[in-house]
Amino acid sequence: MLVVMTPQATPQQVEDVVKRIRELGFTPHVIPGATRTAIGITGNRGPEGRESIATLPGVLDVIRVTSPYKLVSRETHTEPTAFPVAATRVGGGGFTLIAGPCSVENEKMIVETAVYLAAQGVKLLRGGAYKPRTSPYSFQGLGEEGLRYLDKARRETGLGIVTEVMDVENVARIEEVADIIQVGARNMQNYPLLRRLSLTRKPVLLKRGLAGTLEEWLMAAEYIMSGGNRQVILCERGVRTFADHTRNTLDLSIIPVVRKYTHLPILIDPSHGTGKAEYVPSMSLASLAAGADGLIVEVHPDPQRAVSDGPQSLTFDAFSRMSASLRPIAEVMRVPIL
Ligand code: PEP
Ligand code: MN
Repeated sequence: MLVVMTPQATPQQVEDVVKRIRELGFTPHVIPGATRTAIGITGNRGPEGRESIATLPGVLDVIRVTSPYKLVSRETHTEPTAFPVAATRVGGGGFTLIAGPCSVENEKMIVETAVYLAAQGVKLLRGGAYKPRTSPYSFQGLGEEGLRYLDKARRETGLGIVTEVMDVENVARIEEVADIIQVGARNMQNYPLLRRLSLTRKPVLLKRGLAGTLEEWLMAAEYIMSGGNRQVILCERGVRTFADHTRNTLDLSIIPVVRKYTHLPILIDPSHGTGKAEYVPSMSLASLAAGADGLIVEVHPDPQRAVSDGPQSLTFDAFSRMSASLRPIAEVMRVPIL
């Protein structure tokens, strides 16, 4: 941290700041300037003590110099993170497709979707068994039964499974079925859940919260990494803004920013990002062109009859068209579609 004193600060006020920094156990470095004094602080692990310095007389500002996240930061890990998942991989230069329905509704529809996607070359199937719904009266997911159907879909097709966990108590069972455990937007800051997932050996797909800043999102990823889980995938799924022409505002501009600050892979969810199937293909192309590591996209055998998120789900045909349109762009970019 760097303390900037006001131009009017007295030598005594500078001395008091130096004293407080020492009381906190850190080392002050006084840097006199032409019009004001600055005091560098070393030996601190984060912004702790910032408030107690910022409120001292004569202090104009206390500036953070290093980022509060460590393990997710590019400063500590310069190479992009990549790891194998089921029969594919995430990160490190490929474009990984994850597709499937919002919810697992019954055995037939999830197996049918898995068979179709496998024929399309997709390697990872999404489907929620535990669903975070805005209304307590809406379909909440099939729970354990849904996990069994996902397992069946895997056995029939070889697809890897991506499914959401909503609470600590279900982690152990979901670990058995999932190849990637999804943390939904509403749980991005569920710290007990993140801590529990820091202990799993399965990769975690961490969705950005409904109003999550980059720093809050990366700190949530830091929770997962801090317990030893290095396999974290970020997922941008749109944030809440004043705009109401789409369900959320898909923040594709966060892709290069994420690249700059962290080595973790980033996937885009254009389905929740737009809320409308007709906008999903263009945002998928844009995600690839902007350098995302892949997509998680909702696909349903009969979107009009879906129990959740039908309007944003692609039909099988629409998914085929969308994935075909990705190919020429991927070729130009020399990015394999995985
Ligand atoms: C989902 O993936 O179906 C879902 C509920 O997503 P989100 O957490 O992004 O709203
Ligand atoms: Mn959904």
